[in-house]
Amino acid sequence: MKNYIIKKRELVELCVMFSWCRKCNYVDIFPNTDYGCPKCNTPGSSPMFFSSEIFSLLQLIEDFYFAENDPIDSKDDFVNNEINRNDLAIIIFFCSFVETLIDHFLMVLMNKMQLPNKVQERLLDDNLSSKQRIEKLFRSLTNIKWKTALNKLNKDYKQFDFVGTVNFYINSVKPLRNRLLHRGDKWSISKETSEKCVNYTKQFLYLFVALNNKYVANS
Ligand SMILES: [Zn+2]
Repeated sequence: MKNYIIKKRELVELCVMFSWCRKCNYVDIFPNTDYGCPKCNTPGSSPMFFSSEIFSLLQLIEDFYFAENDPIDSKDDFVNNEINRNDLAIIIFFCSFVETLIDHFLMVLMNKMQLPNKVQERLLDDNLSSKQRIEKLFRSLTNIKWKTALNKLNKDYKQFDFVGTVNFYINSVKPLRNRLLHRGDKWSISKETSEKCVNYTKQFLYLFVALNNKYVANS
């Protein structure tokens, strides 16, 4: 029997556990929603932090991870490697998941800064790629370089490897996804890479909670 690196529904269940205090913007897995926010003690239940789009993408990643292997018929292929359609799907949805997390964070931050909707739209339109959004837009909104922010968070949250997590997305997965979508290169994507994507989703959720608590929540 296959050894799975996550349990069924582990990702979506983790995603819905993060609550968001609407008063101080602090996000965490609140021990008991009846007691309210552990940071500012505002009573009552708090809404889920991550958007329904993020939830849906995690669901898709899990669906393809646990689906039966579906190898593409290698007789018709140029290269005699076993290619699994599920691995291709996981890579695509993983990249969409990271891009949606970036957009969600930036929109929450711009709302906190009370930027008018038109300004928010223009800033996002002027920075279309995820690279521009984390490097240029993040810096202009927070006055700190993305890499410096990540290194600082890594020191505060020693149980995570946020720098390695983002590097994996930028250096390993995004180029593969782009080659697949723009050039049809399905041969470079391995089971190992798709499994790493599944594994890194949890670190990405914690990274964007940490970013929220550092740059959006009241200190
Ligand atoms: Zn609070």
